[in-house]
Amino acid sequence: MRNNNIINKLKRYVLIVEDEIINQEILKEILSKDYEILTAGNGIEALHVIETSIAPISLILLDLNMPLMDGFTLLKELKKDEKNKNIPVIVLTSDKGSELEALNLGAADFITKPYDLKEIIIARVNKSIELSEKRIIVNAEERDGLTDVYNKHIFTEYVSRIDNYRPDAIMDMVVFNITRFHLYNELYGKEAGDNVLVYVANILKDLARENDGIVARIQGDYFALYINHQDDYDALLNNIYAILKDKYNVSNVTFRLGIYRAESTKDSVDLRLERAKKVCDEIRKSNNKFFNIYSEEDQKTQLFKERLNHDFNKAIINKEFKVFYQPKVNIVGDKYVLSSTEALVRWIHPELGFISPGMFIPLFEENGNIRILDRYVWREAANQIREWKEKFNVTLPVSVNVSRVDMFDADIVNTINNIVLESGISPSDIYLEITESAYNNETDQIIGIINGLREKGFRIEIDDFGSGYSSLNTLATLSFDVLKLDMKFVKDMFKNEKTLKMVGIVSDIAKYLNVIIVAEGVETVEQLNKLKEMKYDIVQGYYFSKPVNSVEFEQFFKKEF
Ligand code: C2E
Ligand code: CA
Ligand code: CA
Repeated sequence: MRNNNIINKLKRYVLIVEDEIINQEILKEILSKDYEILTAGNGIEALHVIETSIAPISLILLDLNMPLMDGFTLLKELKKDEKNKNIPVIVLTSDKGSELEALNLGAADFITKPYDLKEIIIARVNKSIELSEKRIIVNAEERDGLTDVYNKHIFTEYVSRIDNYRPDAIMDMVVFNITRFHLYNELYGKEAGDNVLVYVANILKDLARENDGIVARIQGDYFALYINHQDDYDALLNNIYAILKDKYNVSNVTFRLGIYRAESTKDSVDLRLERAKKVCDEIRKSNNKFFNIYSEEDQKTQLFKERLNHDFNKAIINKEFKVFYQPKVNIVGDKYVLSSTEALVRWIHPELGFISPGMFIPLFEENGNIRILDRYVWREAANQIREWKEKFNVTLPVSVNVSRVDMFDADIVNTINNIVLESGISPSDIYLEITESAYNNETDQIIGIINGLREKGFRIEIDDFGSGYSSLNTLATLSFDVLKLDMKFVKDMFKNEKTLKMVGIVSDIAKYLNVIIVAEGVETVEQLNKLKEMKYDIVQGYYFSKPVNSVEFEQFFKKEF
């Protein structure tokens, strides 16, 4: 019978797996002062001992050559098993080749036969146990201090274990966020806020337990649940509100949920969590939507976006990006004449076909690829100007778009300037359209860049004016050459009296500031005539032409509008 007194309880268990009794005895002799020793004569016996041991095994000393199941096989079996894979194994060996193989299989260390000095053996055993326990202690700290639920790291780990153990279970990944929690903290104080987090954690813990799942606090007021698939999240939420009220007397807290449904557990845990959080955040501003389910549709768009990001470099190398040109027409006099053109990029993807910039520009602004793409477009446009100059003996200025991301580039002035000079044209031939939203922050840096560009001779156009939050103050502090009214004003100018007024006022402002005023998105003759009446200088839009490729564009050099 095992003596389960306190001392033995504190002693760690070491399992010696060795078929030669004499060797078993030597090791037992050396280690039994410090450890509780278990023994097995081969791999099969060892598995049985591990399975039935009343205490966790802290270390295994493993002989490699044994009957029935040898050491290598046992080592592989242990590593396959979630429960046992972290038990450190020291291999007992007499030949160098197998040492290496054992280490490759995940053995922690080895002891050579005939046995090393007693002290060396004890030292190696102690060391291996210590190292492995340190690892476990790190893991043990991975609970959230305030609420005692798992933190994100350990949650992810356990979700994969659940998936491994129960591959057929249908599970949902759910992210919970407390609505406007910062306000709650401000109104009722941090302590009350902390209490709410604890209550919520408790409720979610029960919920997780009832639904074969786990819960974590992943950051601030975000919790994640991995639970059996639910059909009715409305009911689940109401249930939580009821408990909060009845048990904890809290009634002024609401949640938003982002749900990643069971369908595709092929996705990594991180990805599922990220997507659940994303759809949760999407409804942050909504007043009537309390949960949002990541849909197949979302998934398709997501995959499409990932594909575009993935294919970007190849597309640059293979010149899959094509620059199209849309005429900008001067309407000041009686004759409408081509004044310049805007370069607009398109992606002709070898498999996906035509992709419009609305699809990929935001993506590339997010990951910074826009900087590469814009440089590519600027260079193409600059070369095009030179080509047309040679062919038609006129310089047609081209407006290129400059992303707000480019404006964070400290060296942007030189970059653009060099591209232009290398193409053999002059800065005054290139107009830079900088979208209004670029001026929202980092104002000083942006003013510096814009002044730098103007000094080099580039013309600056404020694009999409009226779409963002730029104020009259922006207009007053920036020096620029052209104001380009956002398309939506033209679109709505006859639908709304006020919009029409605004279109007129913006023109007046431009006149007052002595800059050129441009309208885009002009589709009808009525719009055109009204804009002319309101003293617009230049218009652009389908009424004259949609953006076309450079060859088709050449017709506009000969034709009148
Ligand atoms: P944007 O700079 O405001 O360009 C005008 C957009 O309006 C273009 O869309 C153009 O095709 C479209 N458009 C022109 N006339 C009409 C019209 O009469 N009616 C309507 N409904 N639309 C009209 P596109 O080419 O799809 O480009 C969308 C946006 O993508 C551009 O808006 C611009 O912000 C961005 N973009 C395009 N090319 C580049 C580029 O090379 N670099 C950067 N950074 N952004 C680009
Ligand atoms: Ca533009
Ligand atoms: Ca625009």
